[in-house]
Amino acid sequence: MTKHYDLISIGAGSGGLSAAERAAKYGKKCAIIEPGALGGTCVNVGCVPKKVMWYAANLAHDLKTAAGYGFSLEKTAFDWNHLVKARNLFVSNINNWYYTFLEDSNIDLIDGTGRFVDAHTVEVEGELYTADHIVVATGGEPTIPNIPGAELGITSDGFFELMEQPKSVAIIGSGYIAVELAGVLNALGTDVTLILRGEHLLRPFDAMLRETLMEQMVNDGITLASSSQIDSLSQTDDGLINITCRTGNHQQGFDKVIWAVGRTPKLQELNLAATKIELDDAGFVKIDEFQNTAEPGVYAVGDITDRPPLTPVAIAAARRLSDRLFNHQSDRKLETNIVPTVVFTHPPIATIGLTEDEARAGHGSAVKIYSSRFTPMFHTFEPDGQHQTAMKLVTVGAQEKIIGCHVIGIGADEMIQGFAVAMRMGATKKDFDDTIAVHPSSAEEFVTMR
Ligand code: FAD
Ligand code: NDP
Repeated sequence: MTKHYDLISIGAGSGGLSAAERAAKYGKKCAIIEPGALGGTCVNVGCVPKKVMWYAANLAHDLKTAAGYGFSLEKTAFDWNHLVKARNLFVSNINNWYYTFLEDSNIDLIDGTGRFVDAHTVEVEGELYTADHIVVATGGEPTIPNIPGAELGITSDGFFELMEQPKSVAIIGSGYIAVELAGVLNALGTDVTLILRGEHLLRPFDAMLRETLMEQMVNDGITLASSSQIDSLSQTDDGLINITCRTGNHQQGFDKVIWAVGRTPKLQELNLAATKIELDDAGFVKIDEFQNTAEPGVYAVGDITDRPPLTPVAIAAARRLSDRLFNHQSDRKLETNIVPTVVFTHPPIATIGLTEDEARAGHGSAVKIYSSRFTPMFHTFEPDGQHQTAMKLVTVGAQEKIIGCHVIGIGADEMIQGFAVAMRMGATKKDFDDTIAVHPSSAEEFVTMR
């Protein structure tokens, strides 16, 4: 017998869970279809386990800084397996919490892979389910290039499966995942080579951020191999992996190679042909500003759309959608002009809005830049001055409206959220100047720049 719902979410990641949770709050009967662990990428193989590893890597850095404060810590040891087990337990506790949460919210969990039979009917394990509204939120999966030996590499998913710490790792890519995993592995003692096809890390970011990060990574001992186009991977008799490059130097002898070259929307199993849903040239589901697909009553949120692939973006899109569908908020929609984001490197990067180059391209001479670079007080007792904080405000017009806010340095990750609120409210440089500083802090530099 076909079971009918007000709303079905396909995928129990950040987007799917949020759409159903908000709809259920409005008294709607909801179901979520999911073949894997609850919480999707973010909880299981993304933000959450990554942040645990980042904290561990921060501690490794801080142990070095501690000497300057008088601590003697010569005999430190690190147990990768201990950390991984603790992290996995933390993640499984979150998974379990979600089961209880769904039960308490009266949301049905349908275990399996969803496949459209027609626009409003989804089949899971031979059973049919219908809904007035269907939210597709199936997320993405790591991209693996189609080159000889590619299968010898793992992805970020495989990184989280490593029960033993690799001695040497090559990471291929230059985006969020490449730089984050490089930072973690390096801090915890793995020999890391980061192989980028171009010249820059984090190409879409402000030049100040990418250049400071690059300096920092080199200072920390990460080998950067730029302008390296990879032809193939091969394995030696003793199990090590060699990388042959078309441009740049060949790289040899790695325990592990990690592909971090982007993610692909996960749409293959959905049988979208049974619907009118359309894809764009890059393979994302085409949506309008209200998350509507080309199929009436079917919506898409999260990483399968061309919006920034970040958890809070998926959550915000999904919640606004349910507000619109079930709470008479007919204009409610997600705006993505101000999306704060943090890259969990060492030190972290936080950024909102336009880069200096983007601002100059769009606004020409109306752009005025304020920037600052200093050694944060925490690193005062290190003789080398290697640990820098760099900040930039991008302003436009006579009012000097803040249209870009960028920082790399310790504390950046926790600094940026409040500035995102200010920018959303249209803050100007004068508003920043008129704000009383918090002293002594790194953040105060944002309100004291000249
Ligand atoms: P997902 O969370 O991927 O959920 C999709 C779900 O759909 C999955 O559970 C999948 O099993 C299920 N599914 C797929 N196909 C079907 C089907 N046919 N039927 C039923 N279910 C299906 N973002 C941040 O904001 N901060 C971070 O620090 C951060 N770190 C990250 C680190 C890594 C290593 C990665 C990979 C990502 C990170 N992200 C981070 C991005 C973030 O995880 C994603 O943007 C977010 O999870 C997207 O949510 P989603 O709901 O679109 O998809
Ligand atoms: P990104 O889009 O961040 O970066 C992918 C990088 O791969 C690009 O910079 C590109 O570099 C490079 N690339 C693409 N194809 C190739 C290739 N064939 N060979 C070599 N390099 C290639 O993707 P990620 O996979 O790192 O992350 C996916 C998304 O997940 C991110 O965009 C982010 O939104 C989210 N995420 C967020 C995090 C956070 O919030 N802290 C952490 C991790 C992920 P170029 O074009 O410059 O050569």
